[in-house]
Amino acid sequence: MHVIEAHALTKHYGAVQALKGINLLVAPGEIVGVLGPNGAGKTTAISVLLGLRGPSSGTIRLFGRGPTDPAARGRIGVMLQESGVPYSLRVDEVLRLFQSYYPFTLPTDELLRRADLTAQRRSLIADLSGGQKQRLYFALALAGDPDLLFLDEPTVGMDVETRAAFWEQVREFAARGKTILFSTHYLEEADALASRIVVLNQGRIVAEGAPAEIKRLVPNALVRLRTNLPIAQARRLPGVQHVAAADHKLAVSTSEPEAFLRALFRADWEVADLTVQGADLETAVRALIKEEAA
Ligand code: ATP
Repeated sequence: MHVIEAHALTKHYGAVQALKGINLLVAPGEIVGVLGPNGAGKTTAISVLLGLRGPSSGTIRLFGRGPTDPAARGRIGVMLQESGVPYSLRVDEVLRLFQSYYPFTLPTDELLRRADLTAQRRSLIADLSGGQKQRLYFALALAGDPDLLFLDEPTVGMDVETRAAFWEQVREFAARGKTILFSTHYLEEADALASRIVVLNQGRIVAEGAPAEIKRLVPNALVRLRTNLPIAQARRLPGVQHVAAADHKLAVSTSEPEAFLRALFRADWEVADLTVQGADLETAVRALIKEEAA
């Protein structure tokens, strides 16, 4: 059985069509990263999948049930961009409040440890820093030891180290066979964590697959080499889009790395320290969205 089963979902806000027919099947243990530019529909998709907003049309099943069915709800944890947590409570109080919502809960000490908030357990939520609040929302999402976790841009406002520690916790959680659906604007995070990427643009899924598959969808490669080939001439070789010089090396982005290298060798230019690197996820997603707009 699929954990998430969404069919032909649409969502209109008045004249705005935020979702234009989303189909999504997620199996147990998958880690799905939803990517896309501002306004693509990521937050709308997550809140509709969760049953927080009704779709305009289409169907959703979570664990084979309607998304508002208590039997499905009890197995789901959620970390949204806005949380309605009362700032006048203390950290351990709000954790206990959330634990009371679920039939089975993780112990408070474990939640505090996973969110790295042990030292703040008696702090007022109002006194937490932005990054600490984010971590608290993560702890609240884990309170019911959910089988399915939704994270909407969870690392916004976290510094680099906190982000790394946060994803480590998510990875630990995933290693227990849990299912995760998250959105992010940090594509290297999605690349490192997701088993599947879903690229949304203007309310539609424009690409879907493992990170490596998404990267293969765009032909761009970066060729780095030490050479006596002048930059101006490099720019005229096959498929070359951009050439930069740094550190006595040329960095050439080209849509045809093989043809570029063939031309280089045929003309007998000196070549040393050669590396060829495929597009990173960010480049690939940007290209896919540009293609879609064209
Ligand atoms: P971001 O990366 O900026 O968070 P997103 O991909 O999450 O964007 P959504 O927030 O889902 O995008 O928005 C999708 C579209 O729906 C946008 O055009 C947005 O303006 C519109 N929209 C979202 N929520 C509402 C609402 N409550 N009322 C009217 N329009 C809305």
